[in-house]
Amino acid sequence: MTESSSSGASGAVADLLDSRGVKVLIVEDESRVAGFVKKGLEEQGFLVEVCDHGDAAYERARSGVFDVILLDVMLPGRDGLSILANLRAQKQTVPVILLTARSELDERVQGLNLGADDYVTKPFFLEELIARIFAVIRRRGGDQGLRLQAGDLVVDLATREARRGGQPITLTPREFNLLEVLVRTPGRVFTRTQLLERVWGYDFDPQTNLVDVNIQRLRKKIDAGAGEPLLETVRGVGYRIRKAD
Ligand code: CA
Repeated sequence: MTESSSSGASGAVADLLDSRGVKVLIVEDESRVAGFVKKGLEEQGFLVEVCDHGDAAYERARSGVFDVILLDVMLPGRDGLSILANLRAQKQTVPVILLTARSELDERVQGLNLGADDYVTKPFFLEELIARIFAVIRRRGGDQGLRLQAGDLVVDLATREARRGGQPITLTPREFNLLEVLVRTPGRVFTRTQLLERVWGYDFDPQTNLVDVNIQRLRKKIDAGAGEPLLETVRGVGYRIRKAD
């Protein structure tokens, strides 16, 4: 790992695409590497979460809340290539950059064949990693990748603003996160437990009515006075954002 950090160089890279609000999942069991990358990315404005175990990482990776996943290959529990293969088998298109050791040539080739978007070889420069993160996001549609849309509802992940029919909607951070999870996959029904885990974390009592209360508030804000209601309740199951026809 190269510890040198030239803020000038990363500043130039950061100008290419705004890193604010870009969510990165680092899957890495070497705490020194994970810590270095996390710190470096956070300094650039990325939102970063670290997972050091393959099984937990797979659950987080498939949650649909990340813009990029940095994936180590050798992990305790499920290994990186298995995580990648399963994500792609489930049609999860989140960009994945493999973090590989120099000796892992076979794994790199296998990873690219399995649908990895890119790889970096450890040790790497932080600037190189950031450039590759921006490159894979751009390849997925650039700034468009940071803007989610369902009907006339637009959710901008970079500025954390939501608009319906061009009208700005004022949301609390929780309401925004809740909306983000739903709008990332229109048509998919999320149970209360899934929403609780994704938006509030795992430590909350599953009996809490936090989800329902926030859904009601969100519904008032995005559907009030608008045409077709977008936030749907699927009785006995959960909630979804209606998929555009
Ligand atoms: Ca490892």
